[in-house]
Amino acid sequence: MTPLLLLALSAAPLQVRVLEREKPTKARLEAPTLTCDGKPLPKKVEVVPGNRELSVGGAKCTEVVASGGATVALKDVTRRFPGVLKVSLEGGVLRFLNEVDVEDYLPSVVTAELGDGKPAALEVQAVVSRTFALTAHRHGKAGYGLCDLSHCQVYRGADASDAAKAAVKKTKGQVVLVGGVALKPTFFHASCGGYTSRAQDVFGDEGAGPGVSDVEGGAPRCAGMPDFAWEFVIEKVKLAEGLGLKNEGHAFEPLRRDAAGRVVELRSFGRRFSGADFQSAVGRAFGWQSLRSMKVSLQEAEGLLRFSGTGLGHGVGLCQQGAKALAEKGVDARGILQRYFPDSQVRVP
Ligand SMILES: [Zn+2]
Ligand SMILES: [Zn+2]
Repeated sequence: MTPLLLLALSAAPLQVRVLEREKPTKARLEAPTLTCDGKPLPKKVEVVPGNRELSVGGAKCTEVVASGGATVALKDVTRRFPGVLKVSLEGGVLRFLNEVDVEDYLPSVVTAELGDGKPAALEVQAVVSRTFALTAHRHGKAGYGLCDLSHCQVYRGADASDAAKAAVKKTKGQVVLVGGVALKPTFFHASCGGYTSRAQDVFGDEGAGPGVSDVEGGAPRCAGMPDFAWEFVIEKVKLAEGLGLKNEGHAFEPLRRDAAGRVVELRSFGRRFSGADFQSAVGRAFGWQSLRSMKVSLQEAEGLLRFSGTGLGHGVGLCQQGAKALAEKGVDARGILQRYFPDSQVRVP
């Protein structure tokens, strides 16, 4: 990756699909500049879906563009967005796309994804989230780069803490490069349970960071988080039902574990799953706090399943709780990134 290419990468605004989950059917928009298919609009308008076009205060158009920072008020939520906000019609609801500079996108992500912590931990999150935002293309087929949910990274527009803003500013333009050259997606998760995993093993796709030990002085660095060790107990018949499968065969038969001890391939009620897909399927059926990680084992008796595990999340890349613990000990952002991405270097623009 040449510095020139890096520069080009960070110069292009991100395309973030926002407010999709809200399924908006009415929005009040306010921005310094608003246009309706290129024609100027007042600074405050109400947008609703029409039959085939948007209806904007009596006018019809296919796209409303808000520039210079926009405020959107929906029924239950009001958000401010930096950059440009484009509104169009999709399946009877309003579709919002935020074109935003990565540096303006990050403060909200760091706030939402890490919360509070020492400045070094926030800076680490900023670098990891920046690298992810510039490399992840999970919605390319739908015509945008990122969604605003934890599927990609949680993003709530201009809403951000001062500490997160400072961390983004301090690390401006910094990304993680594998071997000092290759820009690859950097993933993160709440707690690794003592050992992180490779993206290849968990997702089957490429990403920065080998699996590393997160144990120091005999205990995982992330062991201080609440519910580090957890149990999820469920009736076998209920699990089958939640997965939409027949209650036949074993409920949970690990076929392969990676070096971190995470189940990466398994059979459940006769169907093969990757560990990540199984965790998602159980999460969708029973909530994300049920099967909290795939660093897990099972005991079964009398039709009852008892999953016991450690950690929270997919386990790939940065362990956020481990990073917070290191920051508490006075390790700086570089030092923390070196622990979780030892084959990478931070590139300063
Ligand atoms: Zn997404
Ligand atoms: Zn950890």
